[in-house]
Amino acid sequence: GTLNGDDPVRRALEAAAETLISARDELTELDREVGDGDMGISLARGAAAVLAECPAYPGDAGPAAVLRAASATVRRSVGGTSGPLYAVLLLRAAASLEEGGDWATAFRAAVAGVCEVGGADVGDRTMVDALAPAAETFSARLPYSSGRQALTEAAEAAATGAAATADIRARLGRSSYLGDRVLGRPDPGAEAVARWLAAVAHTLDG
Ligand code: ADP
Ligand code: MG
Ligand code: MG
Repeated sequence: GTLNGDDPVRRALEAAAETLISARDELTELDREVGDGDMGISLARGAAAVLAECPAYPGDAGPAAVLRAASATVRRSVGGTSGPLYAVLLLRAAASLEEGGDWATAFRAAVAGVCEVGGADVGDRTMVDALAPAAETFSARLPYSSGRQALTEAAEAAATGAAATADIRARLGRSSYLGDRVLGRPDPGAEAVARWLAAVAHTLDG
C-alpha cells in the first residue's frame, strides 16, 4: 500500500466511510422504525473495515483495483441485505472501469448490478430510489460540468429520491412486512446513499 493523501478514490472511500460511521445511530434508529434495526451498525462496521484496510489496498494499480479491494472488504464485513448489494456495487464499478468505461458508465453499471442482484427497481422503496436518480443525474451533468459539480447534483438527486421514499410502501425487504407503517419515514438504505454520496462529492476538486 501507499499513503492515501492524493488518491481520489481512496479519499472518496474514506469520506464515505467516515460519514457512515457518523450516521450509525441515526440510520440504526431509522431501520429500527421501518426494518429490523441493524443497518446503521452493519454499514458502520463495514466502513470501519474499509478505513482499516484501505492503506493496504493496491497502491498503483489504478482506481478499479482499489474499488475491487473495497468490495472484498465489504463482502467480508457487512451482513444483512446491504452487504452483498454494496459489494456488487463496488465490484461492478471496478469491472466497468477495467473495461474502459468512464466514471458515469461505471456508476450506471454499478447501480444496474444492485438492481439485478436485489431485484429492485425505482419505486420499490430501497437504496435504488437514491442510487438510480444519482447515476442518471451524474451521467447527464458530467459532459457539461466538473466531476465535483456533477456529483454534487447527483447527491442532491439521491437526497430527493430518498426523501420521496417516505411516501411509498416497500415492495422488497423487511419494510415490505410493515405495509403502511413505514409511511412518513424514509427508507434507511436510500438515506444512507444520499449521505455518503454528498460526502464523496465534497472530496472532489473543482
Ligand atoms: P436487512 O433488511 O437484511 O436487515 P439492511 O438493514 O442491511 O438489510 O438494509 C436494509 C436496506 O436494504 C433497505 O433500507 C433497502 O434500502 C435495502 N434493500 C432491501 N431489500 C433490497 C433489495 N431487494 N434490493 C435493493 N435494496 C434493498
Ligand atoms: Mg436491517
Ligand atoms: Mg437485518
